[in-house]
Amino acid sequence: MGFEFPPYRPPSEAYSMLIRVTRNCPWNRCAFCIMYKGQKFSRRPVEDVKNDISMAAEVYGERPTMFWADSNSIILKTGELEEILDHTYKVYPNLERITSYARAKTILHTKTVEELRRLSEAGLTRLHLGLETGDDWLLKFINKGATAEDMVKAGRMVVESGIHLSEYVILGLGGAERSEMHARETAKVLNQIDPAFIRVRTLIPIPGTPLHEVFEKGVLHLGSPLGVLKETRTLIADLEVNSEFLSDHVSNYLPVNGKLPEDKDDMLEFLDSNIELLEVDPETGKKLLQPEYLRRL
Ligand code: SF4
Repeated sequence: MGFEFPPYRPPSEAYSMLIRVTRNCPWNRCAFCIMYKGQKFSRRPVEDVKNDISMAAEVYGERPTMFWADSNSIILKTGELEEILDHTYKVYPNLERITSYARAKTILHTKTVEELRRLSEAGLTRLHLGLETGDDWLLKFINKGATAEDMVKAGRMVVESGIHLSEYVILGLGGAERSEMHARETAKVLNQIDPAFIRVRTLIPIPGTPLHEVFEKGVLHLGSPLGVLKETRTLIADLEVNSEFLSDHVSNYLPVNGKLPEDKDDMLEFLDSNIELLEVDPETGKKLLQPEYLRRL
């Protein structure tokens, strides 16, 4: 039927109508990522995107939410994005949410707060940003192409525009060696941004990526489950935000979820009891963690 299906979406968009606005990733250099490797970035013509939007209900069945792929569709000109939003709400007047992935550096280079506000008013409700870490050393090491300061600036712009911001963090990203620094610096960045959502994933180095080689060669050593839980504890303990904290990914060892700051004590208590169990009775403690075969799905 000529509809173009996007290859990736966040887990929280599993039930959304998926619209491919751009193809692949214009950066494509993060050391941990294999999603669009070997694929060239391109912008789809706005008319093609609008045609797909008109067909989306036939493909997915009409649903209350929509997600724009691929990795950085905010890169389109503000006027083009407004045209797509306008068309979307004409076709689906009852749509409750439209979301997209975005890169911090792209926001800084291609948008002003005023433009983001225009997009918010036109109905772009949420942006998903890969912070990964707030540790400048680690951001450079993984070739994220943005500093902690860039992350804070871009994140603040989104928050100020009224678009809900979802920031992604990769637990274990700095291995055992960088664990504490990773947690503390990430909390510092998130505290300055105060996003609506903080979503964590736990690192699984993917063969074929530069980061996999780093761990294979022993430049860094993968954190143990206990180490990752302690890192999560440090991160949450340092957070001073008004955010929904979600472990909504199969790679995580434990479902640590809650609203901050209200649920912070409960979340820390949950982590403490599992950390203690892993320390005193590792065999029983391991049984409560997500099994490795499920983490890799
Ligand atoms: S993590 Fe995102 S920005 Fe980085 S290469 Fe992958 S898709 Fe592109």
